[in-house]
Amino acid sequence: MKLKFAPLIRVSTETQEKQGESLRTQKKQIQGYVKNLNGVIPESCWQYSGQESATEGHERKKLEQLLTDSAKGIFDAVIVVDVSRWSRDNAQSKAGLEIFRENGIRFFSGTSEFDLYNPQSILFLGMSAEIGEFFARQGTQKSLLNRIERAKRNIPSSGKLPFGRLYDKTKNEWGIDEKKQKDLQWAANQYLEGESLQKIGKTLNMNFTNLWRILNHRSGVEWTIHFKSDKLNIDEFVKIKIPRLLPQETIEQIHQKSESNKTFTHGHIKHQYLLARTVFCSHCGYAMYGQTNNGSGIRYYRHARHRKIECDIGFWVPASDLEDAIMTHLFKIYGDIDEMQKSMLRAIPDNSKVEKLRDQKQAFGNELEKVEGKLQRVIESIADDLISTDEAKKVIEKIREREILLKGEIEKIRPQVENIPTKEQIHRRAKLIRRQLEVVYFRPGRLKKMTFDNKRKIIQTAFGGKDSEGARHGVYLSKPEKAGGPVTYEIKGIFEDVQGQLSKKKEKENSLTNR
Ligand SMILES: [Zn+2]
Repeated sequence: MKLKFAPLIRVSTETQEKQGESLRTQKKQIQGYVKNLNGVIPESCWQYSGQESATEGHERKKLEQLLTDSAKGIFDAVIVVDVSRWSRDNAQSKAGLEIFRENGIRFFSGTSEFDLYNPQSILFLGMSAEIGEFFARQGTQKSLLNRIERAKRNIPSSGKLPFGRLYDKTKNEWGIDEKKQKDLQWAANQYLEGESLQKIGKTLNMNFTNLWRILNHRSGVEWTIHFKSDKLNIDEFVKIKIPRLLPQETIEQIHQKSESNKTFTHGHIKHQYLLARTVFCSHCGYAMYGQTNNGSGIRYYRHARHRKIECDIGFWVPASDLEDAIMTHLFKIYGDIDEMQKSMLRAIPDNSKVEKLRDQKQAFGNELEKVEGKLQRVIESIADDLISTDEAKKVIEKIREREILLKGEIEKIRPQVENIPTKEQIHRRAKLIRRQLEVVYFRPGRLKKMTFDNKRKIIQTAFGGKDSEGARHGVYLSKPEKAGGPVTYEIKGIFEDVQGQLSKKKEKENSLTNR
Protein backbone atom coordinates (compact mmCIF):
# COMPACT_ATOMS: atom_id res chain seq x y z
CA MET A 1 0.00 0.00 0.00
CA LYS A 2 1.22 3.47 -0.89
CA LEU A 3 2.22 5.88 1.88
CA LYS A 4 -0.36 8.66 2.41
CA PHE A 5 1.24 12.13 2.79
CA ALA A 6 -0.13 15.28 4.42
CA PRO A 7 1.73 18.34 3.05
CA LEU A 8 2.44 21.27 5.32
CA ILE A 9 2.93 24.46 3.31
CA ARG A 10 3.60 27.73 5.08
CA VAL A 11 3.93 31.14 3.44
CA SER A 12 3.37 33.67 6.22
CA THR A 13 7.05 34.59 6.38
CA GLU A 14 7.04 35.90 2.79
CA THR A 15 5.89 39.39 1.83
CA GLN A 16 2.28 39.63 0.68
CA GLU A 17 3.22 39.79 -3.03
CA LYS A 18 5.48 36.76 -2.87
CA GLN A 19 3.11 34.52 -0.91
CA GLY A 20 1.19 33.30 -3.96
CA GLU A 21 4.31 32.38 -5.82
CA SER A 22 5.79 30.64 -2.81
CA LEU A 23 2.57 28.71 -2.29
CA ARG A 24 2.57 27.39 -5.86
CA THR A 25 6.29 26.54 -5.81
CA GLN A 26 6.03 24.63 -2.52
CA LYS A 27 3.02 22.73 -3.79
CA LYS A 28 4.78 21.68 -7.00
CA GLN A 29 7.92 20.66 -5.12
CA ILE A 30 5.96 18.54 -2.67
CA GLN A 31 4.01 16.84 -5.46
CA GLY A 32 7.36 15.97 -7.07
CA TYR A 33 8.85 14.62 -3.83
CA VAL A 34 5.83 12.48 -3.05
CA LYS A 35 5.89 11.04 -6.57
CA ASN A 36 9.58 10.14 -6.10
CA LEU A 37 8.78 8.54 -2.75
CA ASN A 38 6.05 6.54 -4.49
CA GLY A 39 3.40 7.91 -2.18
CA VAL A 40 0.04 9.66 -2.56
CA ILE A 41 -1.54 12.86 -1.25
CA PRO A 42 -5.23 12.30 -0.40
CA GLU A 43 -7.28 15.31 -1.57
CA SER A 44 -8.46 16.13 1.99
CA CYS A 45 -4.85 16.34 3.17
CA TRP A 46 -4.24 19.65 1.37
CA GLN A 47 -6.32 21.34 4.04
CA TYR A 48 -3.38 21.81 6.41
CA SER A 49 -1.53 24.04 4.01
CA GLY A 50 -1.57 27.80 4.20
CA GLN A 51 -3.17 30.02 1.62
CA GLU A 52 -2.34 33.28 -0.06
CA SER A 53 -2.24 36.26 2.30
CA ALA A 54 -1.87 33.89 5.24
CA THR A 55 -1.23 35.23 8.70
CA GLU A 56 0.75 33.45 11.39
CA GLY A 57 -2.41 32.92 13.40
CA HIS A 58 -4.14 31.28 10.47
CA GLU A 59 -1.25 28.89 9.89
CA ARG A 60 -1.08 28.00 13.57
CA LYS A 61 -4.71 26.87 13.42
CA LYS A 62 -3.97 24.67 10.40
CA LEU A 63 -1.03 23.12 12.23
CA GLU A 64 -3.22 22.38 15.24
CA GLN A 65 -5.71 20.65 12.95
CA LEU A 66 -2.88 18.56 11.44
CA LEU A 67 -1.74 17.49 14.92
CA THR A 68 -5.28 16.57 15.97
CA ASP A 69 -5.92 14.63 12.77
CA SER A 70 -2.67 12.71 13.08
CA ALA A 71 -4.48 10.35 15.46
CA LYS A 72 -7.28 9.60 12.98
CA GLY A 73 -5.45 7.48 10.41
CA ILE A 74 -6.09 9.95 7.59
CA PHE A 75 -2.37 10.07 6.66
CA ASP A 76 0.81 8.16 7.45
CA ALA A 77 3.38 10.91 7.04
CA VAL A 78 3.83 14.66 7.10
CA ILE A 79 5.94 16.38 4.45
CA VAL A 80 7.47 19.85 4.22
CA VAL A 81 9.63 21.42 1.49
CA ASP A 82 12.44 22.07 3.96
CA VAL A 83 12.72 21.98 7.74
CA SER A 84 12.45 25.79 8.07
CA ARG A 85 8.81 25.40 6.97
CA TRP A 86 8.10 23.01 9.82
CA SER A 87 8.53 25.38 12.75
CA ARG A 88 10.19 28.56 13.96
CA ASP A 89 9.43 27.86 17.59
CA ASN A 90 11.33 25.01 19.15
CA ALA A 91 8.96 24.47 22.06
CA GLN A 92 6.09 24.09 19.63
CA SER A 93 8.19 21.88 17.37
CA LYS A 94 9.04 19.49 20.19
CA ALA A 95 5.42 19.17 21.26
CA GLY A 96 4.38 18.50 17.65
CA LEU A 97 7.02 15.84 17.01
CA GLU A 98 6.00 14.11 20.25
CA ILE A 99 2.42 13.87 18.96
CA PHE A 100 3.65 12.40 15.65
CA ARG A 101 5.68 9.82 17.55
CA GLU A 102 2.69 8.83 19.66
CA ASN A 103 0.53 8.41 16.58
CA GLY A 104 3.19 6.67 14.49
CA ILE A 105 3.34 9.46 11.91
CA ARG A 106 6.53 9.68 9.85
CA PHE A 107 8.23 12.97 9.00
CA PHE A 108 9.74 14.01 5.63
CA SER A 109 11.61 17.09 4.52
CA GLY A 110 11.87 16.95 0.75
CA THR A 111 12.68 13.35 -0.10
CA SER A 112 14.62 12.69 3.12
CA GLU A 113 12.94 11.07 6.03
CA PHE A 114 13.71 12.20 9.59
CA ASP A 115 13.43 9.22 11.88
CA LEU A 116 11.70 10.69 14.92
CA TYR A 117 13.43 8.15 17.19
CA ASN A 118 16.92 8.91 15.90
CA PRO A 119 18.73 11.33 18.28
CA GLN A 120 20.58 12.94 15.36
CA SER A 121 17.34 13.68 13.49
CA ILE A 122 15.77 15.13 16.62
CA LEU A 123 18.83 17.32 17.25
CA PHE A 124 18.77 18.58 13.66
CA LEU A 125 15.04 19.43 13.71
CA GLY A 126 15.47 21.14 17.08
CA MET A 127 18.42 23.19 15.91
CA SER A 128 16.71 24.29 12.76
CA ALA A 129 13.62 25.42 14.69
CA GLU A 130 15.84 27.21 17.19
CA ILE A 131 17.79 28.98 14.45
CA GLY A 132 14.60 29.95 12.64
CA GLU A 133 13.26 31.34 15.88
CA PHE A 134 16.43 33.35 16.39
CA PHE A 135 16.31 34.98 12.95
CA ALA A 136 12.62 35.74 13.25
CA ARG A 137 13.08 37.36 16.65
CA GLN A 138 16.15 39.26 15.59
CA GLY A 139 14.41 40.54 12.49
CA THR A 140 11.43 41.77 14.47
CA GLN A 141 13.67 43.41 17.04
CA LYS A 142 15.79 45.16 14.42
CA SER A 143 12.80 46.49 12.56
CA LEU A 144 11.06 47.67 15.72
CA LEU A 145 14.17 49.43 17.08
CA ASN A 146 14.67 50.97 13.67
CA ARG A 147 11.15 52.33 13.64
CA ILE A 148 11.56 53.75 17.16
CA GLU A 149 14.79 55.47 16.15
CA ARG A 150 13.17 56.96 13.06
CA ALA A 151 10.22 58.18 15.10
CA LYS A 152 12.62 59.86 17.50
CA ARG A 153 14.03 61.75 14.54
CA ASN A 154 10.47 62.92 13.85
CA ILE A 155 10.02 60.63 10.84
CA PRO A 156 6.68 58.80 10.60
CA SER A 157 7.45 55.09 10.96
CA SER A 158 4.17 53.62 12.00
CA GLY A 159 1.88 52.90 9.08
CA LYS A 160 -0.69 55.56 8.35
CA LEU A 161 0.01 59.24 8.87
CA PRO A 162 -2.16 61.14 11.36
CA PHE A 163 -5.26 62.75 9.84
CA GLY A 164 -4.72 65.73 7.57
CA ARG A 165 -0.93 65.57 7.68
CA LEU A 166 1.43 64.91 4.77
CA TYR A 167 5.04 63.85 4.81
CA ASP A 168 7.55 64.56 2.08
CA LYS A 169 10.11 61.75 2.22
CA THR A 170 12.68 63.42 -0.01
CA LYS A 171 12.71 66.69 1.92
CA ASN A 172 11.95 65.10 5.33
CA GLU A 173 9.23 67.66 5.86
CA TRP A 174 5.78 67.57 7.38
CA GLY A 175 2.90 69.35 5.67
CA ILE A 176 -0.85 69.83 5.85
CA ASP A 177 -3.64 68.58 3.62
CA GLU A 178 -5.61 71.81 3.46
CA LYS A 179 -8.88 70.28 2.36
CA LYS A 180 -8.84 67.93 5.34
CA GLN A 181 -7.86 70.74 7.67
CA LYS A 182 -10.90 72.73 6.53
CA ASP A 183 -13.12 69.71 7.07
CA LEU A 184 -11.80 69.31 10.61
CA GLN A 185 -12.22 73.00 11.42
CA TRP A 186 -15.80 72.75 10.28
CA ALA A 187 -16.31 69.57 12.34
CA ALA A 188 -14.86 71.25 15.45
CA ASN A 189 -17.21 74.21 15.10
CA GLN A 190 -20.22 71.97 14.61
CA TYR A 191 -19.27 69.85 17.60
CA LEU A 192 -18.81 72.88 19.86
CA GLU A 193 -22.16 74.22 18.68
CA GLY A 194 -23.74 71.04 20.02
CA GLU A 195 -24.09 68.92 16.88
CA SER A 196 -23.69 65.18 17.39
CA LEU A 197 -20.48 63.50 16.28
CA GLN A 198 -22.47 60.82 14.46
CA LYS A 199 -24.10 63.43 12.26
CA ILE A 200 -20.89 65.36 11.64
CA GLY A 201 -19.10 62.11 10.85
CA LYS A 202 -21.79 61.15 8.37
CA THR A 203 -21.46 64.45 6.52
CA LEU A 204 -17.70 64.00 6.26
CA ASN A 205 -17.99 60.29 5.59
CA MET A 206 -15.93 59.50 8.68
CA ASN A 207 -16.37 56.97 11.44
CA PHE A 208 -17.46 58.92 14.52
CA THR A 209 -15.10 57.29 17.03
CA ASN A 210 -12.26 58.09 14.68
CA LEU A 211 -13.49 61.66 14.37
CA TRP A 212 -13.69 61.91 18.17
CA ARG A 213 -10.11 60.70 18.47
CA ILE A 214 -8.85 63.13 15.85
CA LEU A 215 -10.62 66.09 17.47
CA ASN A 216 -9.38 65.21 20.95
CA HIS A 217 -5.93 63.79 20.33
CA ARG A 218 -4.72 64.38 16.78
CA SER A 219 -5.42 68.00 15.96
CA GLY A 220 -2.57 69.63 17.89
CA VAL A 221 1.18 69.56 17.43
CA GLU A 222 1.86 66.22 19.05
CA TRP A 223 1.37 62.68 17.80
CA THR A 224 2.22 59.88 20.19
CA ILE A 225 3.14 56.52 18.74
CA HIS A 226 3.12 53.44 20.95
CA PHE A 227 5.67 50.75 20.13
CA LYS A 228 4.94 47.55 21.98
CA SER A 229 6.13 43.96 21.85
CA ASP A 230 5.64 41.58 24.77
CA LYS A 231 8.00 39.05 23.21
CA LEU A 232 10.85 41.56 23.06
CA ASN A 233 9.91 43.40 26.25
CA ILE A 234 9.61 46.68 24.35
CA ASP A 235 7.02 49.22 25.43
CA GLU A 236 7.83 52.71 24.33
CA PHE A 237 5.93 55.90 23.56
CA VAL A 238 7.47 58.35 21.12
CA LYS A 239 6.13 61.85 20.60
CA ILE A 240 6.33 63.23 17.09
CA LYS A 241 5.98 66.93 16.34
CA ILE A 242 3.44 67.51 13.59
CA PRO A 243 1.83 70.62 12.10
CA ARG A 244 -1.22 71.88 13.95
CA LEU A 245 -4.72 71.55 12.43
CA LEU A 246 -6.71 73.45 15.07
CA PRO A 247 -5.87 76.39 17.36
CA GLN A 248 -5.00 75.37 20.93
CA GLU A 249 -8.00 77.25 22.30
CA THR A 250 -10.38 75.20 20.17
CA ILE A 251 -8.74 71.95 21.25
CA GLU A 252 -9.13 72.92 24.91
CA GLN A 253 -12.82 73.67 24.33
CA ILE A 254 -13.21 70.27 22.69
CA HIS A 255 -11.56 68.57 25.67
CA GLN A 256 -13.86 70.39 28.06
CA LYS A 257 -16.90 69.35 26.09
CA SER A 258 -15.78 65.74 25.83
CA GLU A 259 -15.16 65.64 29.56
CA SER A 260 -18.60 66.93 30.41
CA ASN A 261 -20.20 64.49 27.94
CA LYS A 262 -18.31 61.66 29.57
CA THR A 263 -19.44 62.68 33.03
CA PHE A 264 -23.05 62.95 32.04
CA THR A 265 -23.79 60.03 29.76
CA HIS A 266 -23.47 56.97 31.98
CA GLY A 267 -25.68 55.68 34.75
CA HIS A 268 -29.40 56.21 35.48
CA ILE A 269 -31.04 53.31 33.68
CA LYS A 270 -33.69 51.97 36.05
CA HIS A 271 -34.54 55.11 37.99
CA GLN A 272 -33.61 58.29 36.27
CA TYR A 273 -31.76 60.90 38.24
CA LEU A 274 -31.81 64.25 36.53
CA LEU A 275 -28.98 65.59 38.64
CA ALA A 276 -26.80 62.48 38.59
CA ARG A 277 -23.15 63.41 39.07
CA THR A 278 -23.95 67.06 39.65
CA VAL A 279 -24.96 66.96 43.33
CA PHE A 280 -22.30 67.37 45.99
CA CYS A 281 -22.16 67.53 49.76
CA SER A 282 -21.02 71.05 50.62
CA HIS A 283 -19.40 69.88 53.84
CA CYS A 284 -16.96 67.36 52.38
CA GLY A 285 -17.23 67.96 48.62
CA TYR A 286 -18.02 64.34 47.70
CA ALA A 287 -20.54 63.64 44.98
CA MET A 288 -23.93 62.40 46.21
CA TYR A 289 -25.61 59.65 44.26
CA GLY A 290 -29.14 58.56 43.43
CA GLN A 291 -30.78 55.76 45.39
CA THR A 292 -34.38 54.57 45.43
CA ASN A 293 -36.12 53.31 48.55
CA ASN A 294 -37.25 49.77 47.76
CA GLY A 295 -40.42 49.93 49.82
CA SER A 296 -41.79 53.38 49.01
CA GLY A 297 -40.18 53.79 45.59
CA ILE A 298 -39.14 57.32 46.60
CA ARG A 299 -35.95 58.53 44.98
CA TYR A 300 -33.20 60.25 46.98
CA TYR A 301 -29.81 61.81 46.50
CA ARG A 302 -27.74 60.31 49.24
CA HIS A 303 -24.36 60.90 50.78
CA ALA A 304 -21.37 58.79 49.74
CA ARG A 305 -20.25 56.10 52.15
CA HIS A 306 -16.83 54.92 53.36
CA ARG A 307 -14.77 57.85 52.18
CA LYS A 308 -11.52 59.28 53.51
CA ILE A 309 -13.15 62.36 54.98
CA GLU A 310 -15.69 61.46 57.65
CA CYS A 311 -19.03 63.11 57.06
CA ASP A 312 -22.71 62.38 57.61
CA ILE A 313 -23.61 59.27 55.64
CA GLY A 314 -27.20 59.66 56.83
CA PHE A 315 -27.61 62.80 54.73
CA TRP A 316 -30.41 61.97 52.24
CA VAL A 317 -32.44 64.48 50.20
CA PRO A 318 -35.67 63.68 48.33
CA ALA A 319 -34.82 63.74 44.63
CA SER A 320 -37.96 65.17 43.08
CA ASP A 321 -38.04 68.18 45.45
CA LEU A 322 -34.46 69.00 44.65
CA GLU A 323 -34.87 68.47 40.89
CA ASP A 324 -37.94 70.70 40.77
CA ALA A 325 -36.21 73.46 42.70
CA ILE A 326 -33.11 73.37 40.52
CA MET A 327 -35.04 73.31 37.24
CA THR A 328 -37.15 76.22 38.44
CA HIS A 329 -34.04 78.25 39.14
CA LEU A 330 -32.46 77.37 35.83
CA PHE A 331 -35.61 78.44 34.02
CA LYS A 332 -35.63 81.77 35.77
CA ILE A 333 -32.03 82.40 34.83
CA TYR A 334 -32.31 81.08 31.30
CA GLY A 335 -35.51 82.91 30.48
CA ASP A 336 -33.70 85.91 29.12
CA ILE A 337 -30.61 85.51 27.01
CA ASP A 338 -29.19 88.97 27.87
CA GLU A 339 -29.77 88.41 31.57
CA MET A 340 -28.14 85.04 31.22
CA GLN A 341 -25.03 86.44 29.58
CA LYS A 342 -24.75 89.21 32.16
CA SER A 343 -25.13 86.67 34.91
CA MET A 344 -22.41 84.51 33.43
CA LEU A 345 -20.10 87.49 33.15
CA ARG A 346 -20.82 88.46 36.74
CA ALA A 347 -19.84 84.95 37.76
CA ILE A 348 -16.31 85.67 36.63
CA PRO A 349 -14.18 87.21 39.37
CA ASP A 350 -13.21 90.70 38.18
CA ASN A 351 -13.39 90.31 34.44
CA SER A 352 -11.16 93.25 33.56
CA LYS A 353 -8.35 91.83 35.65
CA VAL A 354 -8.61 88.52 33.84
CA GLU A 355 -8.54 90.28 30.46
CA LYS A 356 -5.39 92.12 31.49
CA LEU A 357 -3.76 88.90 32.60
CA ARG A 358 -4.67 87.31 29.27
CA ASP A 359 -3.08 90.20 27.37
CA GLN A 360 -0.01 89.96 29.55
CA LYS A 361 0.30 86.26 28.92
CA GLN A 362 -0.05 86.85 25.19
CA ALA A 363 2.70 89.48 25.28
CA PHE A 364 5.04 87.17 27.18
CA GLY A 365 4.25 84.44 24.69
CA ASN A 366 5.18 86.69 21.74
CA GLU A 367 8.40 87.68 23.47
CA LEU A 368 9.22 84.02 24.12
CA GLU A 369 8.75 83.23 20.44
CA LYS A 370 11.20 85.98 19.51
CA VAL A 371 13.75 84.69 22.02
CA GLU A 372 13.43 81.17 20.68
CA GLY A 373 13.94 82.51 17.16
CA LYS A 374 17.12 84.25 18.30
CA LEU A 375 18.41 81.05 19.84
CA GLN A 376 17.75 79.21 16.60
CA ARG A 377 19.72 81.82 14.65
CA VAL A 378 22.68 81.55 17.01
CA ILE A 379 22.69 77.80 16.64
CA GLU A 380 22.61 78.17 12.87
CA SER A 381 25.52 80.60 13.04
CA ILE A 382 27.57 78.07 14.96
CA ALA A 383 26.71 75.41 12.42
CA ASP A 384 27.83 77.76 9.63
CA ASP A 385 31.05 78.61 11.50
CA LEU A 386 30.06 82.29 11.64
CA ILE A 387 30.90 82.63 15.33
CA SER A 388 33.15 80.71 17.68
CA THR A 389 31.69 78.34 20.24
CA ASP A 390 33.01 80.50 23.09
CA GLU A 391 31.25 83.59 21.79
CA ALA A 392 28.12 81.56 21.15
CA LYS A 393 28.18 80.11 24.65
CA LYS A 394 27.91 83.55 26.23
CA VAL A 395 25.09 84.61 23.93
CA ILE A 396 23.20 81.39 24.43
CA GLU A 397 23.47 81.62 28.22
CA LYS A 398 21.93 85.07 28.09
CA ILE A 399 19.11 83.96 25.82
CA ARG A 400 18.42 80.91 27.96
CA GLU A 401 18.17 83.08 31.06
CA ARG A 402 15.58 85.25 29.38
CA GLU A 403 13.74 82.17 28.12
CA ILE A 404 13.47 80.67 31.61
CA LEU A 405 12.29 84.01 33.01
CA LEU A 406 9.53 84.35 30.41
CA LYS A 407 8.38 80.77 30.79
CA GLY A 408 8.18 81.27 34.55
CA GLU A 409 6.00 84.38 34.13
CA ILE A 410 3.68 82.59 31.72
CA GLU A 411 3.32 79.65 34.09
CA LYS A 412 2.44 82.06 36.90
CA ILE A 413 -0.41 83.56 34.87
CA ARG A 414 -1.72 80.33 33.39
CA PRO A 415 -3.68 78.96 36.42
CA GLN A 416 -5.29 82.37 36.96
CA VAL A 417 -6.88 82.46 33.52
CA GLU A 418 -7.14 78.81 32.52
CA ASN A 419 -10.55 77.86 33.91
CA ILE A 420 -12.17 81.16 33.09
CA PRO A 421 -14.09 81.31 29.85
CA THR A 422 -13.54 84.13 27.37
CA LYS A 423 -16.35 86.51 26.40
CA GLU A 424 -16.87 84.71 23.10
CA GLN A 425 -17.11 81.38 24.89
CA ILE A 426 -19.76 82.79 27.23
CA HIS A 427 -21.73 84.20 24.35
CA ARG A 428 -21.64 80.90 22.50
CA ARG A 429 -22.77 79.03 25.60
CA ALA A 430 -25.64 81.41 26.27
CA LYS A 431 -26.79 80.96 22.69
CA LEU A 432 -26.60 77.21 22.99
CA ILE A 433 -28.70 77.14 26.16
CA ARG A 434 -31.19 79.49 24.56
CA ARG A 435 -31.59 77.21 21.55
CA GLN A 436 -32.17 74.22 23.80
CA LEU A 437 -34.83 76.14 25.65
CA GLU A 438 -36.61 77.30 22.51
CA VAL A 439 -37.58 73.73 21.89
CA VAL A 440 -39.51 73.93 25.13
CA TYR A 441 -40.82 77.47 25.10
CA PHE A 442 -42.92 77.11 22.00
CA ARG A 443 -44.83 74.18 23.38
CA PRO A 444 -47.69 74.23 25.84
CA GLY A 445 -47.08 72.66 29.22
CA ARG A 446 -43.41 73.54 28.98
CA LEU A 447 -41.38 72.47 31.99
CA LYS A 448 -43.79 69.70 32.92
CA LYS A 449 -43.86 68.27 29.42
CA MET A 450 -40.17 68.57 28.88
CA THR A 451 -38.61 65.16 28.33
CA PHE A 452 -35.98 63.84 30.68
CA ASP A 453 -33.39 64.08 27.92
CA ASN A 454 -34.18 67.71 27.22
CA LYS A 455 -33.94 68.63 30.88
CA ARG A 456 -30.75 66.71 31.12
CA LYS A 457 -29.30 68.68 28.21
CA ILE A 458 -29.97 71.91 30.04
CA ILE A 459 -28.35 70.55 33.18
CA GLN A 460 -25.31 69.50 31.17
CA THR A 461 -24.88 72.91 29.61
CA ALA A 462 -25.32 74.68 32.93
CA PHE A 463 -22.95 72.48 34.90
CA GLY A 464 -20.34 71.48 32.31
CA GLY A 465 -16.78 72.32 33.29
CA LYS A 466 -15.25 73.81 36.40
CA ASP A 467 -15.25 77.17 38.15
CA SER A 468 -12.31 79.57 38.30
CA GLU A 469 -10.89 77.75 41.31
CA GLY A 470 -11.03 74.43 39.49
CA ALA A 471 -13.99 73.02 41.50
CA ARG A 472 -16.66 71.05 39.66
CA HIS A 473 -19.85 72.94 38.80
CA GLY A 474 -22.97 71.51 40.37
CA VAL A 475 -25.51 71.67 43.17
CA TYR A 476 -23.95 71.82 46.65
CA LEU A 477 -26.19 70.67 49.49
CA SER A 478 -25.88 71.63 53.14
CA LYS A 479 -27.51 69.87 56.07
CA PRO A 480 -30.17 71.74 58.10
CA GLU A 481 -28.62 73.93 60.76
CA LYS A 482 -31.03 72.62 63.38
CA ALA A 483 -33.05 69.41 63.36
CA GLY A 484 -36.18 69.72 61.24
CA GLY A 485 -34.89 72.80 59.42
CA PRO A 486 -34.62 73.10 55.66
CA VAL A 487 -31.82 71.68 53.55
CA THR A 488 -30.08 74.53 51.79
CA TYR A 489 -28.45 74.39 48.39
CA GLU A 490 -26.11 76.43 46.32
CA ILE A 491 -26.04 76.22 42.53
CA LYS A 492 -22.54 76.73 41.18
CA GLY A 493 -22.67 76.92 37.43
CA ILE A 494 -21.54 79.02 34.54
CA PHE A 495 -23.63 81.91 35.89
CA GLU A 496 -23.67 83.62 39.29
CA ASP A 497 -24.05 81.33 42.28
CA VAL A 498 -27.64 80.92 43.49
CA GLN A 499 -28.71 79.98 46.99
CA GLY A 500 -32.00 78.41 48.01
CA GLN A 501 -33.85 76.25 50.51
CA LEU A 502 -35.81 73.09 50.07
CA SER A 503 -39.14 73.62 51.80
CA LYS A 504 -41.64 70.91 52.69
CA LYS A 505 -44.14 72.09 50.09
CA LYS A 506 -42.86 72.18 46.56
CA GLU A 507 -42.38 75.36 44.62
CA LYS A 508 -45.12 75.79 42.09
CA GLU A 509 -44.03 75.35 38.52
CA ASN A 510 -46.95 77.36 37.20
CA SER A 511 -45.33 80.72 37.65
CA LEU A 512 -42.68 79.65 35.19
CA THR A 513 -44.40 77.42 32.78
CA ASN A 514 -47.22 79.88 32.12
CA ARG A 515 -44.97 82.74 31.26
ZN1 LIG B 1 -20.32 65.29 53.26
